[in-house]
Amino acid sequence: MQLRRYELNVHRINHIFISHLHGDHYLGLMGLLFTLHLQKRTAALHLYSHAGLDEIITVQLRYSKSVLNYPIIFHTLEKDKHEIIFEDDHLQVESIPLTHKLTCSGFLFREKPKARRIDKNRLPEGLLLQQLAALKMGDDIVDESGKVLYKNEDLTLSAKHSRSYAYCSDTAYEPMLIPLLEGVDLLYHEATFIEEDKLKAKETKHSTALEAAQIAKQAGVKKLALGHFSARYKDLSVLEEEAKTVFNNTVLATEGQTFSLEE
Ligand SMILES: [Zn+2]
Ligand SMILES: [Zn+2]
Repeated sequence: MQLRRYELNVHRINHIFISHLHGDHYLGLMGLLFTLHLQKRTAALHLYSHAGLDEIITVQLRYSKSVLNYPIIFHTLEKDKHEIIFEDDHLQVESIPLTHKLTCSGFLFREKPKARRIDKNRLPEGLLLQQLAALKMGDDIVDESGKVLYKNEDLTLSAKHSRSYAYCSDTAYEPMLIPLLEGVDLLYHEATFIEEDKLKAKETKHSTALEAAQIAKQAGVKKLALGHFSARYKDLSVLEEEAKTVFNNTVLATEGQTFSLEE
């Protein structure tokens, strides 16, 4: 319903990453799977989750006597493991072990290093395709004897920045995350409570806004987005303010918002 509300194209979704099996993190999935079926999807859909999601989905399909038009490919996440779980030419996704009541993983999305950009203003005429490819890879252009004809830096501009985004929900304060999150462009970190309700946070293995900000600060991330707020806070600015005392570049990730990361 929210995808439709924000006019996002569900057919562009090929991979879905589920952190853990508390209902607030996956109960909408079954509806989405059936919507894709009704809309005649045929392309495979990849689901990443800890053990159990495959069984939950299989049981629902079995008892509704449904066969989806498209295959689902389950990827079971390994408990407590930081590893690459998806990779293509442009992107890699890492699982990040989180500390929660259920086995839980966050996800770190990283663009791969990008090619250098050819500076069209300085490009001599008549270069071959493979010479242009060499330039993008950062190599000089050489003749058959290996003599440099053009130096790479004379014809190219630096590659664009490879962006990174980390999703950490749900988790208690976990300093082990700090080295994994180092320098990411945007960190989404849960902040279910404020310090005043710290006991509740400890009990339920959630974080306070201050703790999320400490992780952001120590990991040297560029921007922190807080989310997963307890319904007890009618005015969410208390969470934002608390985090900003430690990490100023903090925003509230409220429903429907978009964050752009600069290349
Ligand atoms: Zn949870
Ligand atoms: Zn949750």
